[in-house]
Amino acid sequence: MTDAAPLWFDPELCLISGQWQPATDGATLELTDPSNGRSLCRISRGTGADIDAAVAAARDSLQGSWGALTATERGRLLSRMGQLVLERVDTLAELEARDVGKPLTQARADAVALARYLEFYGGAADKVHGDTLPYQAGYTVYTLREPHGVTGHIVPWNYPMQIIGRSVGAALAMGNACVLKPAEEACLTALAFAHIAVEAGLPDGALNVVPGLGAEAGAALASHPGVDHISFTGSVRTGMLVQQAAGANVVPVTLELGGKSPQLVFDDADLTAALPFLVNAGIQNAGQTCSAASRILVQRGVYDQVRDAMAAAYDKLTVGPALADLQLGPLISARQKQIVETYLAKGADLQIAGQGHLSETAEQTGSYVRPTLFADVPPDHVLAQEEIFGPVQVLIPFDTEDEALTIANATEYGLVAGVWTRDGGRQMRLAKRLRAGQVFVNNYGAGGGVELPFGGVGKSGHGREKGFEALYGFSQLKTVATHHG
Ligand code: NAD
Repeated sequence: MTDAAPLWFDPELCLISGQWQPATDGATLELTDPSNGRSLCRISRGTGADIDAAVAAARDSLQGSWGALTATERGRLLSRMGQLVLERVDTLAELEARDVGKPLTQARADAVALARYLEFYGGAADKVHGDTLPYQAGYTVYTLREPHGVTGHIVPWNYPMQIIGRSVGAALAMGNACVLKPAEEACLTALAFAHIAVEAGLPDGALNVVPGLGAEAGAALASHPGVDHISFTGSVRTGMLVQQAAGANVVPVTLELGGKSPQLVFDDADLTAALPFLVNAGIQNAGQTCSAASRILVQRGVYDQVRDAMAAAYDKLTVGPALADLQLGPLISARQKQIVETYLAKGADLQIAGQGHLSETAEQTGSYVRPTLFADVPPDHVLAQEEIFGPVQVLIPFDTEDEALTIANATEYGLVAGVWTRDGGRQMRLAKRLRAGQVFVNNYGAGGGVELPFGGVGKSGHGREKGFEALYGFSQLKTVATHHG
C-alpha cells in the first residue's frame, strides 16, 4: 500500500476455510485512493471457482465446529470480535478513509458502529427463540428458529463496515455460515474484519471473503445453488439481477437498495434543531448514502428562512482529502464524479441556492465535487426524482400537509422520511401515511440506530436488517407438532 498506510495484512488474498489464499487464477484488481486518484494496493479478483470453494467451506463449517456451537458460544465470539474492532478503531478508520475517501471522523464512526453491531448481535444470539402454540388435544406444538445455512452477502463501497456489521453480524449470530463479496471499489475493511474474525477464534469456514468484480464473483455468489439466502445492498439495477439469479434457485433475498428520501419542514417546526439535520443528511459521506435526505420539502411560511439558512451552511462546507477530515471527502471514483456532474448539468435550468467549496488541498486527480443546493425545484424534475448519490439536495416548497405528503410519496423509492413539526396530530398522521421503511419525527436517522429495523418499500428494496428483525430474516421457522395422545 502506498503512502505508509496502516495495512497489517496482505490484501491480495481471499479467506476460504480459515486459509488466506490468492484467487484461483492469481488475478488481482487495483484499488484507488479517491482523494488523489493514485493506486492504493491490489486486491484479489475472485471468480466462480473461488466462490465455489467458499460456499463449500461454509457448508463444511455448518457440519463441523461452527455448526456445533451453542447460541451462547456464537454470541461470545461475536462479542470478542466487537472488542477487537474497538481496539482497532483508529486503524480501521484510516483504512476506510483511504479506501472510500470518507473523512476520518465519519470513518471512525463507521468502525465504532461495526463494533456496536457485533456487540448487539453477540448479546442477542441466545435470545431469539420459537414459541409453543396452543393446539388440539393430544398435541404439543412448538416452533424452532434455525439458520438458513450458507448466506451470501454482497455489499457496496459506501459504508462497508456498517453494512458488514449489520448483515454478517446478524447472520453469524443465528448460526449461518457466510460468504462475503465486498465491493471492488473498496474492500480493505472487509479484509481487516475477516482477519479480526480469525483472531477472535471464529471457526474455519464460518466466514469466507472473496473480493472481486460484481459481474464475476458477485454474480457467481448470487446464482450459486449451494447458497441458502442472499443479502444484497447496492443499486436497484444490480438488485434486480441478484433477485432473478437467486429466484432461479428459490432462495430468499434481502434487498437494501437506493432512495430519494425527503425531509418535510412545516411552518411550526423548531428550525434551529432542524437545520443541522437538513444539511448533514444530504452531505454526509459526500451524499453517497442510501438514506441521504436529498429532497427538502419546506412549507411556504418558512421557505425563504430555511433556504437562506441552508445556503449559509453550504457556504461553510469544505471538500478535501479524507485524511484532512473536512466536512466532505471525494466521491468514490472518477466515474461517480462524472455521474454526479452529469446530474449537476441537468440542473442548469434551476436556481443554485448554495454551494460548498473545494479545499486548496483537494488535488485535481481526486474525485471532488462541490456540494450543491438547488432551490424551487419542481417535484417532477429529474433532480427531484432520481437518486444522484452525490452531495446534491433540492428544495421544494409546499403549501399544505396533503400537498407535502403527495410530493414526498411521489418517487419510486421509499427508504426513509423525516418530519419536522410541533403538531402532534400531524406527526402521527404523517408517520402512518409516508411511504418509507423508517420515519423520523423531529430528527433524522436517530444517530444510526443499530437496534432499529431498517429497509425499504418500492424500489428501495424489501426485507429488514438491523435490530432483532434482522435475526428473524437470517433464520427460518420450523414448526414441530408432536401427537402424544
Ligand atoms: P452496485 O449495485 O453496483 O454494487 C453493489 C455490490 O454488488 C458490489 O459488491 C458489486 O460488486 C456487486 N455487483 C455488481 N454487479 C453484480 C452482479 N451482476 N451480480 C451480483 N453482484 C453484483 O451498487 P454500488 O454502486 O456499489 O452502490 C451504490 C448503490 O447502493 C446506491 O444505489 C445506493 O443507494 C445503494 N445502497 C443502498 C443501501 C441500503 O442499505 N439501502 C446502502 C448502501 C448503498
